[in-house]
Amino acid sequence: MNTKAKKPIRIKLVLAIVLLLVILVPAAWVLAVRLEGERPVVKLTPETSVVGASTDLVLDLADERCGLRGVRVTMTQKGKEVALAEASFPAVGLLKGGIVNSKRLEIKLQPEAQGLADGEALLRIAVTDHSWRNWWHGNRTLIEKTVTIDTRPPSIAVVSRAHYISQGGSGLVVYRLSERCPSSGVQVGEHFFPGYPGFLAEDESLHLAFFAVAYDQDPDVRIFLRAMDEAGNDAKAGFPHLVNPRRFPNDIIQISDRFLDWKMPEFEADIGAMPGTSRLEQFLTVNRELRQSNYQTVKQICSQTDAVVHWEGVFSRLPRSAPKASFAEQRDYRYAGEIVDHQVHLGADLASVAQSPVPAANSGRVVFGENLGIYGKTVIIDHGFGLFSMYSHLSLIEVEKGQMVAKNDIIGRTGMTGLAGGDHLHFSMIVHDTFVNPVEWWDPVWIRNNITSKLEDAKPVATETSG
Ligand SMILES: [Zn+2]
Repeated sequence: MNTKAKKPIRIKLVLAIVLLLVILVPAAWVLAVRLEGERPVVKLTPETSVVGASTDLVLDLADERCGLRGVRVTMTQKGKEVALAEASFPAVGLLKGGIVNSKRLEIKLQPEAQGLADGEALLRIAVTDHSWRNWWHGNRTLIEKTVTIDTRPPSIAVVSRAHYISQGGSGLVVYRLSERCPSSGVQVGEHFFPGYPGFLAEDESLHLAFFAVAYDQDPDVRIFLRAMDEAGNDAKAGFPHLVNPRRFPNDIIQISDRFLDWKMPEFEADIGAMPGTSRLEQFLTVNRELRQSNYQTVKQICSQTDAVVHWEGVFSRLPRSAPKASFAEQRDYRYAGEIVDHQVHLGADLASVAQSPVPAANSGRVVFGENLGIYGKTVIIDHGFGLFSMYSHLSLIEVEKGQMVAKNDIIGRTGMTGLAGGDHLHFSMIVHDTFVNPVEWWDPVWIRNNITSKLEDAKPVATETSG
């Protein structure tokens, strides 16, 4: 009796389970897979909200689950809509949705050609996927962004007048920009010398750019001002200038075994032990490769500067010292009667009594105070707007990075660390990434004619009020 009653119940149970499986499993699948609620991911680069005469936008789209369905990019201005890009990606089947899970779109924005005027506009990016959500319309990501269209390049007005520069020497140009520019300055051949506002606190349009013609650049090198605004519009402007060619002296440096035995162990920390090589080979590695790598370090240090003129008047020279080598001296290195190397000396060597106190040539901020390969113990001071002084082969450093120093404050003692054969100061002046002739900065007449007179001209004329 019991078994008879149980049988229909069991059948009902099995039927119920089958029914559940037939309905619930596909329903669960539909919910989880075809009705997924993840929106497409949209990334726009650059993130800028200012667009120029020609701006490249990159749009990265991704939808991991049902795949991308479509994208539409428009720009709307004063009720007028301009389509910038449109694409659709078909579904491949009921089960899968789409197969395009990621897509990169490159959009060239040229407002003038696309009928958009300077001013504000609304950038709209709408992306959908192949999910069955929203009555088969899919999940949608909508990005709306107000952008400013600026197709006009900045205008550059040169304020300073004559610019006489020597090969290997420095210069200053004062100019005004019609709008805020993240980048402006002087192009000298391959070198770019950034200029900055900030010289006059109340006058943001006034900019200073210190620049240089490297000792090895042609006097006919192209020199001009350039500025790029936030929208990427680029402007160039010439300014009157004259580059005087210079000849630089030659010298022969004798390399002795005594010097190599004395100096090379010091450089093991920089170039390694170099087993199986001669002292001369080690010296050549130091003189060529380490010299280059040290220059890269100096360039890196001098790529950051304060937009403040920290210094005043003439730069001081190591007191009671004799010049031992001058700027851009062409050096042949002789070992055992043979010329083994050639390098250019990018500073001035000054010798006084051993371990003489070294004064800061002018006021500024210490940006480096450590050992630096061929230069030995070295201090670098930022005088502002990309002008730096450098003191090398020191026996002692008496300042720390970040510290402000006044002109003639003692920063260390002369010595013979690095690639120096005797106690002396190697003094360099640097404008951004270029070593320049320090002699100009020691000369009050040169400074007045080429630098301070231009700074004075930039200052507003004080108007006298009577009464
Ligand atoms: Zn030197």
